[in-house]
Amino acid sequence: MARIVLWLMLLATPAFSQPVLHVGTASATAGLKTTGYIDVPSGVDAGMRIPVVVVAGARPGPALAIVSGAHGTEYASIIAVEKLIELLDPQQISGSVILVPLVNQASFEQKVPHVNPIDGKSMNRFYPGKPDGTQTERAAYAITREVVEKCDHLIDLHGGDLDENLRPYSYWAPTGKSEQDRISRDMALAFGLDTIIISRDRPSDPNASKYLETTASLRGKASITAEAGRAGRVDTDDVMRLVNGCMGVMRYLKMLAGSADAVQHPVWIDHVETLTSDATGIFYPEVDRGVYVEKGSRIGHVTDYTNRTVMEARAPAAGVVLYICALPSMTKGATIANIGVIAAGAPQ
Ligand SMILES: [Zn+2]
Repeated sequence: MARIVLWLMLLATPAFSQPVLHVGTASATAGLKTTGYIDVPSGVDAGMRIPVVVVAGARPGPALAIVSGAHGTEYASIIAVEKLIELLDPQQISGSVILVPLVNQASFEQKVPHVNPIDGKSMNRFYPGKPDGTQTERAAYAITREVVEKCDHLIDLHGGDLDENLRPYSYWAPTGKSEQDRISRDMALAFGLDTIIISRDRPSDPNASKYLETTASLRGKASITAEAGRAGRVDTDDVMRLVNGCMGVMRYLKMLAGSADAVQHPVWIDHVETLTSDATGIFYPEVDRGVYVEKGSRIGHVTDYTNRTVMEARAPAAGVVLYICALPSMTKGATIANIGVIAAGAPQ
């Protein structure tokens, strides 16, 4: 009799039916939030530990990875994942959520934009990484193995870096596999941002995938990238766009109850044109993020340090200002603005 009762108790325990998910040192049990870290061993330079939280739902379902802080001064995206760690309730979730709030801790701690100050490399350009590279490459290798390979879907969050006055958008990067592309497109719509960049120039070699999201996509996992935040700020609007976006995708994937509040008529961006500076000096923006510009219209200017104009910044194409440099510091070859050229219609 006791044996039968024990058996019935085991059957009634979600942990019995839900396989345990191991991510780094976090061994997730169904119905619980588990904290741990992904170890990046030392090599040619120092090792590091990347914090991870696994929210293992009480019921089975897909594994969704949400990663932020590849660029450690894109604060809104990092704070959004901290908020998700707080908000996500395992009892309400079907499946598991792997949350990685801060990949690039040295960037965050030293307030260095764009790169990992340990080796000077962007932490979203060296995937799938390698075990014997510099810290950025070893971190990418560890994330590929511990996060990408263990999830079914991935959302890579970014947030407009210290020098970027950015309007929120997501990226949809089709792979040519129609079913996967349909799901990733639906994920971008479910995320809810009203501007979606169609990114067709991603690598196709899984061994040289460069970006985190591409690394997941090339392994057959429908995934997206989303970006909100700007210039070192942590605006509630931007943080909640990312929080609600992730929860919208979870509803679309049936990991949360309810239906996603999908964006109905987003602005689809066919491609992005980048304007770079001809000169080092002081940048003065003359338009705000999100403004629509004609080709050739003036969007700012650069002076030398004696206040002589050395460059008129003109839009390289007609479109929407996705971001414009937020700071006076300007160097030759640096980005002044990204202009999104609007697609003729929604992609099919
Ligand atoms: Zn970024």
